[in-house]
Amino acid sequence: MSTFFHTPIEQTDSLIANALSDEKSRQQNQIELIASENIVSRAVLDCLGHEMTNKTLEGYPGSRFHGGGRFVDVVEQAAIDRAKELFSCDYANVQPHSGSQANQAVFFTLVNPGDRVLSLDLAAGGHLSHGLGANLSGRWFEAHHYGVDRETGLIDYDRMEALAKELKPKLLIAGGSAYPREIDFERMRAIADKVDAFFHVDMAHFAGLVAGGVHPSPLSCADLVTCTTTKTLRGPRGGVILSKNKDYERKLQAAVFPGVQGSIHTQVIAAKAVCLGEALNASFKDYARQVKANAQVLAKTLMSKGIGIVSGGTDTHIVLLDLRGQNLKGSQVEKALDAADITSNKNPIPFDSPRPPEWVGLRLGTGAATTRGLKEKEFAELGDIIADLILAEGEGKLSSVVESAKSKTSKLCKEFPIYS
Ligand SMILES: *Cc1c(COP(=O)(O)O)cnc(C)c1O
Repeated sequence: MSTFFHTPIEQTDSLIANALSDEKSRQQNQIELIASENIVSRAVLDCLGHEMTNKTLEGYPGSRFHGGGRFVDVVEQAAIDRAKELFSCDYANVQPHSGSQANQAVFFTLVNPGDRVLSLDLAAGGHLSHGLGANLSGRWFEAHHYGVDRETGLIDYDRMEALAKELKPKLLIAGGSAYPREIDFERMRAIADKVDAFFHVDMAHFAGLVAGGVHPSPLSCADLVTCTTTKTLRGPRGGVILSKNKDYERKLQAAVFPGVQGSIHTQVIAAKAVCLGEALNASFKDYARQVKANAQVLAKTLMSKGIGIVSGGTDTHIVLLDLRGQNLKGSQVEKALDAADITSNKNPIPFDSPRPPEWVGLRLGTGAATTRGLKEKEFAELGDIIADLILAEGEGKLSSVVESAKSKTSKLCKEFPIYS
């Protein structure tokens, strides 16, 4: 058995070991601009590969269904305490396996199957877990959507209010995956109050910016707030539920377990505790400030080259490109950037086609590359590289710029190494 406990994967499973090693060097040798990604610390990785993964536990710290949980209790309690301190709130549940499951627990707590919910339209940047027809949330609840103004790209709050008055939803949801602007939480709270609805904010994307103090916090307006620890919060894959209102505590605890989940992912909870601790450090404020500054430089640089940016800029880490000016699809540009080792994703823009191959948007985010150390100067350079690639692709001349773009990306990767 000793080999079982000691032999590294390189000697036991070459298929998987090679894929792991290829993935690591892919990350080292490309610039990551997918807005939902980040690069975690060594300390977070130490947790994810730890023996704590062997421990099965159901329930909450101090009240478990299995023995042997005393050290996991230390970890989960630390994660809860740090989340409460970081977001200045009175309740935190750190068990959801993902952001989607955190949102399921919110539905479970606040509404019943068949109830109406009102959330951001998917093409306008909403998330599938907020009532998409193909998602459980859309099957079990009657979802309606508000959107953005066609001209400004900003959420149309007057229309949201009119819809809320007409539909009388039980739950109003804020937040999304591709909306680049700050959301008016106070206005939405007021709209929810007028129709006697609950108000849920899903801050999955901008939680790190809230933690770093460069984005308004939704906690004083919302009944419940969910987020992932993955994106700008720079932690492991997983979800968190937060509230300033202790009234929901009993129902929320039961909604997560046994409502939508069984045993906890012990090693991930340790990693969540670590990332929340990192976000409490003063240096995380500098990181969050830099993420936002970098996004503004990226948006400005691209606009100066004639590339459309939805809403004309950004208040967050997200820059959403509108490629209609170049007559390009998001998938084409995703591929063109990939050829120069820049990773991004095609995305709908407001009022876009429902068919992914026809989407004319590309979503970029600055969280991961900022973790690498890139600042305004490098993001201006990246903006130039990306604009060159897009303009060349638009003229059918990508091959004329790809090699020089690739060597510039490679230089940035060498100057700002990760996990070396
Ligand atoms: C990423 C995201 C989620 C959750 O994603 P998972 O992949 O399930 O962790 C939920 N809501 C929003 C708005 C998101 O952007």
